Amino acid sequence: MRIIHSVKQMQNFSQRAHQAGKTIGFVPTMGALHAGHASLLRKCQQENDISVLSIFVNPAQFGPNEDFHKYPRPVKKDVLLAKKEKVDIILNPSVDQMYPGAEMPSLKNKAKKAFQPGLRPTGYLTSVHLGEITERLCGKSRPGHFDGVATVVAKLLNIVSPDTLYLGEKDAQQVVVLKRMIQDLNFSVNVKVCPTIRELNGLALSSRNQYLTDEQRRQSSVLYQALQMARKAIKAGERSAAKIERMMAAHIRRVKPTAIEYIHCVHPQTLSPMKALTGTILIVLAVKIGNARLIDNITVTLR
Ligand code: AMP
Repeated sequence: MRIIHSVKQMQNFSQRAHQAGKTIGFVPTMGALHAGHASLLRKCQQENDISVLSIFVNPAQFGPNEDFHKYPRPVKKDVLLAKKEKVDIILNPSVDQMYPGAEMPSLKNKAKKAFQPGLRPTGYLTSVHLGEITERLCGKSRPGHFDGVATVVAKLLNIVSPDTLYLGEKDAQQVVVLKRMIQDLNFSVNVKVCPTIRELNGLALSSRNQYLTDEQRRQSSVLYQALQMARKAIKAGERSAAKIERMMAAHIRRVKPTAIEYIHCVHPQTLSPMKALTGTILIVLAVKIGNARLIDNITVTLR
């Protein structure tokens, strides 16, 4: 396994790999790897000659009051997990490699200011903007977040030139946004979406679960329970999105969450809200428990 920090070196590596007729699979992450990431890496390794993992905590997708500085960065542990999953290349660029001129002040510096959407670093100007689908759901409380995600993934695709990109179903809106960007900007890459890996109690694995206390972690199982209750009710004939959403909220409120940000039944491609449930329904939620903002979703198909 090789760790590459330089964008140019990564591009040269990929170019040589393609010239040698090898396929490249790519798993972009922000690190703090867990079994959810590992499942993507395993699939990537099995299906490609070369598997590339990127670890980059992308400042452009964090809001001013979000957890950019607090976000866990357990580099050594991540390297061990990557080795175990037979990753060939870890791409771990600095902020300045990705956004030249937007040098991050030292994390130890109290006066630091995260690179924010809207900030214009001297060597970097471009951003990918998708409009409405990025403004719904998580986009409402995280303005600029998905433009930051789309921009960094567009850059990473140009840097890694993968044949296949592996994404997790857990981040449903991210999948919709990135698939749309890939289509609209004619990126030549296949997208594979991998199922959500969960703890035994149903809580979707996330790097941010580290912010939960043991008690909150137990309480967080209400999210998946609510999604399963919704599935059962829809399968039993309930067709009112409002009723399903109310039932889910009532179940989640039992653990006194800090906030229920949203619970919605939406169209899986447009993410627009459904009133009468029909066809394939994406049920999505974002709930704050303690200090952790948790998201989850399931898809229910009516035949
Ligand atoms: P992140 O490091 O959180 O940006 O996630 C990197 C990739 O891993 C994204 O495609 C996520 O959707 C995916 N991922 C995160 N958590 C899980 C999970 N519990 N199961 C499957 N994939 C996941």
